[in-house]
Amino acid sequence: MRKLLLAALMAAGVSTGFGNAQAQDYPNRTITIVVPFSAGGPTDTVTRLVAESMSRTLGQQIIVENVGGAGGTLGAARVANAEPDGYTLLLHHIGMATSATLYRSLPYDPKSAFSYIGLVTEVPMTIVARPDFPPDDMAGLISYVKENADQVTYANAGIGAASHLCGMLFMSAIETPLVTVPYQGTGPAMTDLIGGQVDFMCDQTTNTTNQITAGKIKAYAVTTAERIDALPDVPTAAEAGLEGFQIGIWHGLYAPQGTPEEAIAALTDALQKALADENVVQRFADLGTAPVSAEEATPEALKNKLLSEIDRWAPVINAAGVYAD
Ligand code: ASP
Repeated sequence: MRKLLLAALMAAGVSTGFGNAQAQDYPNRTITIVVPFSAGGPTDTVTRLVAESMSRTLGQQIIVENVGGAGGTLGAARVANAEPDGYTLLLHHIGMATSATLYRSLPYDPKSAFSYIGLVTEVPMTIVARPDFPPDDMAGLISYVKENADQVTYANAGIGAASHLCGMLFMSAIETPLVTVPYQGTGPAMTDLIGGQVDFMCDQTTNTTNQITAGKIKAYAVTTAERIDALPDVPTAAEAGLEGFQIGIWHGLYAPQGTPEEAIAALTDALQKALADENVVQRFADLGTAPVSAEEATPEALKNKLLSEIDRWAPVINAAGVYAD
């Protein structure tokens, strides 16, 4: 009835404040969350766990769409250019900040192209290798890699990916450049690592924990200050001899800039409920991570994080002098 009335008013050229009425009905159809990496990888895993719970709160289906390529920038561009109506969202990680410097021309401005919903989680990384890669510990890995630098292959998810950043830090720590093999996400990279087609990589625990525990890959270190409960036998990078090698992969949920405030408020509420959902908390813990607090799962916290992380990584990237273009 209401729709009919609105249609009649619009046909008559009467201003209805339709955008507003629509925002108040939000959401009334399926929502899409774009993951800027392949299905089956760590960002995809985090997104699917959160989306399932958010969908129950919002009373609408949430579809996850994988738009991999160019280190996450293709998926981010897809959302930056989407209709700002709350039905196309982006779940991206630290790469949103590093790509701002790694790419000297992007089809969107990471600082202004998005509305913010909230931070989601910060995930440790692990340095891992194919099961039959010769070195057994970090000291062995460093000397093996230095001696065989032109043969060893390092998998990453493209320039701008977390795996790229971690690899860049590792290469600079051991002062040895390596041959990199780019994928559209570390889901397919993991398949090749297990299969022995590529030698080693650095990836989020949300992708590596189950494979390490099952003995399908070797783990050399976790990139946190302390060991993590999900992988108690894996040393920290500092324990393994890489002093100061710490990196956490923070993830945030975004919408295109200009998304109505009512939609953002509903999404932030659903995100906070998902992050307090016992099932999500447990699944995250099994994969070596934890949700952020309710105060961090807010638009302000994500905005502050993104802007401060762009500033934090710019000098590191500029010092390394590695750019995508
Ligand atoms: N872990 C990947 C990265 O290196 C992304 C992914 O496949 O989720 O950024």
